[in-house]
Amino acid sequence: MNISIIGSGYVGLVSGACFAELGNRVICADNDKQKIAAIKKGIMPIYEPGLEELIANNIKKGRLKFSSSIKEAVKGSEVIFIAVGTPSLDNGEADLTGIENVAYNIAINMTSYHLIVEKSTVPVETGKWVKQTISNHAKGGVKFDVASNPEFLREGSAINDFMHPDRIVVGVESKKAEEILTNLYKPLKAPLVITDIKSAELIKHASNAFLATKISFINAVSRICDKVGADVMEVAEGMGLDKRIGQSFLSPGIGYGGSCFPKDLDAFINISEKLGYDFELLRAVKDVNSQQKEFMFKKIRDVLWIIKNKTIGVLGLSFKPNTDDIRNAPALEIIRALQAEGAKIKAYDPSAMKKAKEVLDGVTFCEDSYNACRGSDCLLILTEWDEFKELDFSKVKKLLKRPLIIDGRNIYEPEALKKMGFTYICVGRGKRG
Ligand code: NAD
Repeated sequence: MNISIIGSGYVGLVSGACFAELGNRVICADNDKQKIAAIKKGIMPIYEPGLEELIANNIKKGRLKFSSSIKEAVKGSEVIFIAVGTPSLDNGEADLTGIENVAYNIAINMTSYHLIVEKSTVPVETGKWVKQTISNHAKGGVKFDVASNPEFLREGSAINDFMHPDRIVVGVESKKAEEILTNLYKPLKAPLVITDIKSAELIKHASNAFLATKISFINAVSRICDKVGADVMEVAEGMGLDKRIGQSFLSPGIGYGGSCFPKDLDAFINISEKLGYDFELLRAVKDVNSQQKEFMFKKIRDVLWIIKNKTIGVLGLSFKPNTDDIRNAPALEIIRALQAEGAKIKAYDPSAMKKAKEVLDGVTFCEDSYNACRGSDCLLILTEWDEFKELDFSKVKKLLKRPLIIDGRNIYEPEALKKMGFTYICVGRGKRG
């Protein structure tokens, strides 16, 4: 099939490259001319494992092209995916300016049938507005369909997630749209959930809100564990072995962040309110999440006493491992709070330092974990990258001023570190940490 993806960020680039890999001819478009020019030169705007090779390979095979012209993208394809950003406005509402802009530009450039598919995460009933916008501006007689196909990939494992999804959700209003999307996704062996557009839009918001709820739930439980000396890791394991609950997203720590959960929760709360429903449960999920960062900060203060002029070695800046994405990363919030109290920060992250340098002032960025430890009053773990799990602790101990590790992600075994002479502070492990 001839496909266009408009919006070449994490979702657009990965979807575009994967659709090309599946044998389609794909144009990835973006209104950021510099981004497109850089990609054409082989410079990736994001770090995502395997993406650079996948893109290079599909360009070479002639299946993948990049363009900063929406017109070119529309002309060259029957199916157009919208994958632009849908960030939060100050009131929590999703900013759908990009979606409207793309819908308008598709409409004015259409000369034949197109299927326009929302891939971006959008509030329920956005499809109605996309359809209306296209109807308002398309030339008379040009036929089109709108569909919703929310994306569930996770940064860090995006290609694998796209190629091996748990399910594919397709919200359609016509048999033709259903057939096109069913054929497009045929090579992927995953259950296809075919539904109406509103239900598809809701599946995405409800899924992200549910996952965020799981994280906040276990974080709330971790607070009780800290109070009574129980171990939240064991509680989470004991809960997660119940198939109805499952292990995933039961990891206690400094809370969720990233470009999706915070904004999608806000947007879901906001649209619910507009529809006349107060989604109190999700407001509580948000509250627990922000308390978790404050709680970590308190733990740091409790063990360091005076924060002013203390040097803190920080490992991890990205909002989760295997990505360079720092949008709403809890690490940045904690670093800024420490800096506000006068701490000096020495930080290391395997791939997010370039982006972090653009937004963090006064941080010394180190070339590896050990340099972040050198001369620091403590080591603070803020993202659970695998390489942090395999540190040489005898080296760490020698480099730190004091053998103190504060672990916001519970990645170490408390007993093992204590045996090596560390003071180890973590989340909800009672007497163990
Ligand atoms: P992103 O910010 O990385 O990329 C968005 C791209 O859209 C940018 O390159 C931007 O230049 C481009 N863009 C914005 N307005 C445009 C316009 N009018 N015309 C053309 N291009 C335009 O965002 P992302 O992380 O890829 O997310 C895109 C959407 O997918 C969001 O709705 C997000 O919630 C959703 N989503 C993201 C993820 C994720 O893990 N990042 C996962 C699932 C769904």
